[in-house]
Amino acid sequence: MEQKIKFVGMMGLIAIFVVVVLISGCVEEKPKENLTETKNLTTQEKIIVGVTILPQAEFVEKIGGDKVKVVVMVPPGASPHTYEPTPNQMIDLSKAKMYAAVGSGIEFEIAQMDKIRDVNKDMLVINCSNGIEFMEMLKDEEEHEEHHHKGNKDPHVWLSVKNAKIMVKNIYDGLVKIDPENKEYYKTNMEAYIAELDKVDKEISEKLSNLSNRKILVYHPAWGYFCRDYNLTQIAIEKEGKEPTPQGIQNLIKQAKENDIHVIFTSPQFSTKNAEVIANEINGSVVPINPLAKNYTENMYRIADAFSKV
Ligand code: ZN
Repeated sequence: MEQKIKFVGMMGLIAIFVVVVLISGCVEEKPKENLTETKNLTTQEKIIVGVTILPQAEFVEKIGGDKVKVVVMVPPGASPHTYEPTPNQMIDLSKAKMYAAVGSGIEFEIAQMDKIRDVNKDMLVINCSNGIEFMEMLKDEEEHEEHHHKGNKDPHVWLSVKNAKIMVKNIYDGLVKIDPENKEYYKTNMEAYIAELDKVDKEISEKLSNLSNRKILVYHPAWGYFCRDYNLTQIAIEKEGKEPTPQGIQNLIKQAKENDIHVIFTSPQFSTKNAEVIANEINGSVVPINPLAKNYTENMYRIADAFSKV
């Protein structure tokens, strides 16, 4: 008799356990699951990877697939030149196994990397720019002599598809270090994504090869690496994070007229006021393009398409 009671009691416990598992299973499927819930799932615990910008989130997800969960520091619409993380983001990072820094001297990382390392000493920090050849930040020609900051590298490395391939490889190396068991899985994903990036690079190169006007006027000088890859030249309205002076605006209008430029490309992270002033003067239009969109390959095609219509 006692045996039977014990048995029924145990069945009851098992039933409760099953219900709990089912409930937590449902919670898990919500699109906006939070990190603590993920952590309770022992069977399919995801590796949390922190990144600075959205294109890196795409790279990590392409390689890590369902084994990773990405925490992005600079949210959509914010600029990595100025953004500061929230306390909640730092808490999220305390659970990360790896942080993929852009590593190109972008202001967010210059200001925050020490704090990011301090919040989680066990976290592997990798440098996505390892192996990338840096360009110097574009300078205004007339300012050139007086205000030349030596070694000011252009931080926008991810906007070259060729650089993206290096970043992807660095992320792969990091994932293999923290999770060697799944090396083959990451390798297959990486190879597939690199092949996709090669295709994007080749198609953009073909698309832009016959442009007669190879100068583009942009608000924020994010396109140096992109222009290098496809033999274009960017003329930027903003210089080193500063709005142009009235004289600078006049100079840009002159350059645009001389070069028969009628389109100004702006980024959603920056004000378009000065761009519109110049557009009026040159009888042109303002076209927004996003240097920080998450869907990387699609965004690169969109940008190439916008540049090709100049
Ligand atoms: Zn920028």
